[in-house]
Amino acid sequence: MTIKINVDMAKCQHYGQCVFEAPNIFKLNNDDKLEYTAEADESERANVEAAIDVCPMQAIFIVD
Ligand code: SF4
Repeated sequence: MTIKINVDMAKCQHYGQCVFEAPNIFKLNNDDKLEYTAEADESERANVEAAIDVCPMQAIFIVD
């Protein structure tokens, strides 16, 4: 099983809190812009949900 992840880049302010919660999914690139993996193994769900919880812009979604 996989999960699909979507970040609303119009909302994302690139603070990077999600990176700490789910480092396999989210990273800040060399320009300090968020990059993320849109599809991940089910085992990442808890980490992604933690990232959703800490995102100050409520920009992260799991697309079921
Ligand atoms: S925590 Fe939210 S606002 Fe911050 S970089 Fe991640 S998705 Fe963007």
